[in-house]
Amino acid sequence: MIDTHAHLSKRFCDVFEKPDLRGVVLAASNVEESKDNIELAKEYKGVLWAAVGIHPQQTDPENKLSIDEQLNSLDAMVESNKSVVKAIGECGLDYSPVLDDERERPKKEQEILFRGQIALSIKHKLPVIVHSRKTMDEIFEIIKSYGKRTKGVIHCYTGGKKRIEKVLELGPEWYFGIDGNLTYESGLEEVVKLIPKDRLILETDSPFLTPVPFRGEKNKPEYVKYVYEKVAEIWGLSFEETEKIIDGNAKRLFSI
Ligand SMILES: [Zn+2]
Ligand SMILES: [Zn+2]
Repeated sequence: MIDTHAHLSKRFCDVFEKPDLRGVVLAASNVEESKDNIELAKEYKGVLWAAVGIHPQQTDPENKLSIDEQLNSLDAMVESNKSVVKAIGECGLDYSPVLDDERERPKKEQEILFRGQIALSIKHKLPVIVHSRKTMDEIFEIIKSYGKRTKGVIHCYTGGKKRIEKVLELGPEWYFGIDGNLTYESGLEEVVKLIPKDRLILETDSPFLTPVPFRGEKNKPEYVKYVYEKVAEIWGLSFEETEKIIDGNAKRLFSI
């Protein structure tokens, strides 16, 4: 099992326990977390892999860096840590109401940040981890403007049945990331049935989106097991067969 999207940086984790998994891709929400991810990935080489990125509604605690400075900082981090940095993100557009620790970022600024990170992903030939809330159609337009040069995952996919085809049209290296809410949202089950098996990867988004039977508690990467179990049930395959397919997809996308 591979958890392809978790936040384990200092902000979320008092004590880091080595997860009982094949591996975890650490998503970043700001420059600080990107640095933390690289440190963790170096410490747990071959188990943890880092993404560096800036979430559309997250900033660094101090919030002193300009957009250009933030992007340059990510660029430098990738450049000097190529063996552990496996993706750019999470980045994208989010037009939903801001949460407590988030910042309302103007739409135009979100787009500049997103485009800057897509450019970095192309420059470094890395996949991009896309965060989208109420913005799927805008996201498609932006990604399509780069032709077929991009690859990545629409993480925590919420586009429903009707946008599956649109994700596939982005290119042969675009994937759907599905989370623990699959264990309690029957509508999402119907969506997963229609996603091609070779385009699905699984994630926890720890510490959020905890699956059944631990819903309400803090999420952990190892709970991705419950998402694998649910997919196995939907596909009518054994756990081992399902794991082989899903992990193959994750390894291909992230080159891990
Ligand atoms: Zn996200
Ligand atoms: Zn996330």
